[in-house]
Order: sequence, then structure tokens, then C-alpha cells
Amino acid sequence: MTRNESLAALRQQTEVSVLIIGAGVNGIGTFRDLALQGVDVLIVDKGDFCNGASAGSSHMLHGGIRYLENGEFRLVREALTERNRMLHNAPHYAKPLPTTIPIYSWLSGFLNAPLKFINLRDKPSERGGVIIKLGLMMYDWFTRGQQGLPTHRLIGRAESLKLRPKLNSTIVATANYYDAWMPYPERICLEMVMDAEAANPKAHAFNYVSLASASDDTVTLKDELTGETYTVKPKVVVNAAGPWIDLANRAMGEQTQFIGGTKGSHILVDNPELHQMLHGSEIFFENKDGRICLIFPILDKVIIGTTDIRSDIPDPVCTEEEVDYMVELVSYVFPDIKIDRSQIVFRFCGVRPLPHSSASRTGAISRDHSIQTIEPDSKISFPVLSLVGGKWTTFRAFSEQTADVVMRRIMRRRESDTKNTPIGGGKDYPVSVDAQNKWLQNLQAKTGLSSERVQSLFDRYGTYAEVIATFCAAGQDGPLMSQPTYSQREIRFLAEREKVVHLEDLLLRRSLLAMLGLVTGDLLNEVSLILADVLGWTDMSRQKEVDSAAETLHHRHGVALEKLTPKEAVTS
Ligand SMILES: Cc1cc2nc3c(=O)[nH]c(=O)nc-3n(C[C@H](O)[C@H](O)[C@H](O)COP(=O)(O)OP(=O)(O)OC[C@H]3O[C@@H](n4cnc5c(N)ncnc54)[C@H](O)[C@@H]3O)c2cc1C
Repeated sequence: MTRNESLAALRQQTEVSVLIIGAGVNGIGTFRDLALQGVDVLIVDKGDFCNGASAGSSHMLHGGIRYLENGEFRLVREALTERNRMLHNAPHYAKPLPTTIPIYSWLSGFLNAPLKFINLRDKPSERGGVIIKLGLMMYDWFTRGQQGLPTHRLIGRAESLKLRPKLNSTIVATANYYDAWMPYPERICLEMVMDAEAANPKAHAFNYVSLASASDDTVTLKDELTGETYTVKPKVVVNAAGPWIDLANRAMGEQTQFIGGTKGSHILVDNPELHQMLHGSEIFFENKDGRICLIFPILDKVIIGTTDIRSDIPDPVCTEEEVDYMVELVSYVFPDIKIDRSQIVFRFCGVRPLPHSSASRTGAISRDHSIQTIEPDSKISFPVLSLVGGKWTTFRAFSEQTADVVMRRIMRRRESDTKNTPIGGGKDYPVSVDAQNKWLQNLQAKTGLSSERVQSLFDRYGTYAEVIATFCAAGQDGPLMSQPTYSQREIRFLAEREKVVHLEDLLLRRSLLAMLGLVTGDLLNEVSLILADVLGWTDMSRQKEVDSAAETLHHRHGVALEKLTPKEAVTS
């Protein structure tokens, strides 16, 4: 169904069992779970799907070894189990990530964690080898019996430096273990939306539709594109607005202080020397100030992060000071590798929707999730469940817990669960090399596309590549002139089938074009022409889309304006 067709359906539908405000991963996870139970459910987002905290993450699916020192054993155990489930359910977008922690001493920090548990200390101190070893033993213990990833291993100084000669030579050893990462978090969200809508005709998802207000039994929603308003009467509202939760509650007349967000920024750099020194692994380490930081390869670029700064603004930008901090932190682990600011291809920022807390250090605020309930009162006659906190990694479990509460409220019984439900192109995914080769050969034979092209679609979309390859083969196609790794019909497919509203949706959230620093002025023009054809933009609206995408890329993601100017315009 197109956006307009779905909106027309919304006009007819005034009653709905569940309305979800906010289409980040927690809202979408809950939407999918409820849709699979046959519930009539509506999800709206004031922007595109997965544009908030869920687009600002470090891209890790991890247990969170650091949370052990805050005593968050339940969370770590749940996160590790969910990490392993994601590797199984979304193998196209959840990838094992070998991880190395440099160790600078054996004993430091040994007393820190026990003292923290009894509230005698709330400061970070260097984590030595013994404490890291204990944490990793717990990691392995939590996942014993699950068919997951290999267990950890300590490697001595000489061997560690042989593998990575540019690593800080003051290390005494390295700890090596596995976590996981996701190249395309935004696509995971989108594919779950599409899975849910495909499974249940009474499940509808709208981007660019916001919560405007609520009173009695009615919620007013606003189409951010046209200004048109719609009213719905929900039995239950799930407030999954992430860092905006308190603002959304306020819009419904309720005063809450559930969220105390912290901002985190990342940069992506094009530095082949650093990329090579990583050997496909993450370096997860404690910076000089005690903050845990990370560096790992994302395709041919390297991600560096992150900061952790209290923030009342739900959508701030990455500042120059934060960029300085991230450029500088690399020199702590690789003293001889210099990051030049001109190598930064992209920067991004998000606010963690953490629970409101008076903790003196942001690192001490719990990363666990909870459901805060506002019961019906004199202002609104439905309950509002606010989804506070949570990790990307644990979204499925959090969504399941939320769906359970919702189902009890609407007096429905759960019919299935999502523990083993594949996501999008993770369905029927060929895991072994042999199975993959066979799958690729079949698709090549079916579509007549080249083996390179079929491989690249499979790498990008998993088994969903079959639908895209078939679409590409069904008409006149060719590589984009400005970015030949994508084809014209592939872009057309994304625009037609994936709820793209603006040019930036496609650049930032349906593809990695922006994140990998591949957007140029020429690409903006070329892609916008395809979108204009599919979405019926006039010349003027197409130019507005190009200008607006360039502004977002420049202002929010630090992409140089010269790069975003078409070549003829530069030379004329
Ligand atoms: C810097 C950073 C690093 C992180 N790293 C990791 C990591 O590596 N691994 C991990 O597991 N987790 C990580 N996280 C945590 C994880 O990303 C978040 O906890 C999770 O994405 C929160 O999702 P959400 O759906 O609750 O919120 P969001 O993704 O913020 O979604 C909320 C949505 O609500 C919408 N909204 C707001 N107001 C309205 C309204 N009035 N009407 C309609 N819609 C509205 C917003 O547009 C937004 O899309 C990180 C988070 C950050 C910020």
C-alpha cells in the first residue's frame, strides 16, 4: 500500500486497539509483535522510520561488558541472548564482530566494581586484566549452551603487537572475544515494518505523521507533509518516542520526567592505515578519561565513538569539540596513526533515552529498560505505556514485554512469539558457503544478472535481494553514473516499495550512501530525478528535496558543501 492509500484507510478508521507513538526500534519491535498476534495496531513517527536514537547508535549488538561493573547482570544476560537471536534471525544485518580490549595493567580497578556494588565508589578507574578477564568469563557463562560465538581468549603482549604493530606498546596483553554489529540498523527497522504490515492487514505504519494532542478517548495525529489532522480512539497508547517521551506525554496533557538523556556522537573516517590495523576487529577500550570507546571497520570506512554528555535536547548535533575528542582518542590506542579531519566522511549523533537519574556520572546511569504506565485519568481515558531506556540489542525482548502488557490490557492472548522470527531478508538465509553459492547461482540463472551484481544485492539485502533482483531484471537498467555500485532500478525499487517520502530517507536510511561518504552533488541530482519520477515531484519540489538533503547532510552530518555541489556548478 502507498502512503496515500494507507492514509485514506486511516481516515475511515477511528477506533484502533493500539496506537504506538514513535517508530524507533522499540516502537517498531512492539508494532511487529502485536501485528503478528493479529492485533489492529497503528504506529506513527513525526519523521522517517528509525530517525532518532535508533539511528544514532554505535551499531553494536552486544552484551555490554561495561554494564557488569554497574551490577546490571540481568541486562547483560538478556542482551547476550538477544544478540545471539539477532545473529540467527537477521543474519543479513547482524554480523559477528571480533573484539579486542587492550590491557595496560593486570590489577588496577580490581576493587572498583565490588566497592561500587556497596555504593562506596562511583568513579571510573582503569580496568586491569584481572577485572576484564572476570567480566569475559561471566560473558561466556551467560551464553553457555547457546549456539553463539566463540569464547574469549587473552593474548600476551608480544603476540598482540605482532598482529597489530601500531598498537600502544605499553600494553601488557589484549583480551579477545566476540560481540556483533549491524551495518544497516535503519533497514532492520524498515524490514520489520514491512514484515508486520505484510502479516496483518490491520497493522499500519506511517512515517511523517506526528502525535499532536489528546483528550478524553481521542488522539489527534498530524500529517507532517500536508498539515491534515486525523483522529483515532485507541484502547492503549504506547509512547515509544525515545528521548521525546516526556514531550509526547506533555502533548497528551500528562507531565512526566521519565527521561534523562545523554548525547553520543560518532565519526566515520576514510583512513586505510587504521582500517588495516584493525584486521576486521573492533578495538574496545578505555580512553584516558575512563570512558569506554570503540573503533571498528564499517565496510571500507572506520567508525570511531563515542561521547556521553547529558542532553535535554532530543536531536542535537555532533560538535567540533566532540570531533576533537574522537580524533584524539585514536592516538591513545594507536599512537602513530594520525586522523586528519579531512578524512572524516560522516558524523552522526543521537540521544540515549536513559531513565531520569541523579547519578553524578553518565556512565553510571542504568542502560536497562522499563515500562512506565500512566493510568487513565480526568484528561485521557486510555492508559499510556512509556518505553524508557533500552538497548538496540534488547529491542525484541523489550517489545515482547511491552506487547505482553498491551495484550493483557486489551484482553487478548498471545498466539506466537518473535524469539525465532526472521527479519526481512534474513528469512530462509543460506548460511553455509555452499548454500550461499547455490542460492546466488539460482538467482543469477533466474534473473540473468551478472554474478557480481547478484552478490552485491545479496550482501546489501540478504534474501530480499531476490525481489529486488527480479525487479531490476524486469526493465531497462544501468548503474548510477555517480555511484555505479547502485543501479537505477534498484533506487527506483527502494523509492516505490519502501515508504520513501524525502530524498534524505533514501540516502540516510534505505541505503548506506550517506554514511559511507558517497553522496556528491551529482548523486543528489541523479537519485532525485529517479525519485521525482516515482513520487511525482515537480521540478520545483525536486530542487527543494535536493537543497534540503544537502542542508541535512552538511548541518547534521558534517558533509562538506563543496562535495554536495554538482560538478558543472563548481566549474562554471
Ligand atoms: C550514541 C548512542 C549509542 C548507542 N549505541 C548502542 C549500541 O551500540 N548498541 C545498542 O544496543 N544500543 C545502543 N544505543 C541505544 C539504542 O540506540 C537506543 O536505546 C534505542 O535505539 C532507543 O530506541 P527507541 O525506539 O526507544 O527511541 P528512538 O529511536 O529515539 O525512537 C523514537 C521515535 O519517536 C519519534 N517521535 C518523537 N516524538 C514524536 C511525536 N510527537 N509523534 C510521533 N513520533 C515521535 C521520533 O521521531 C523517533 O523516531 C545507543 C544510543 C545512542 C544514542
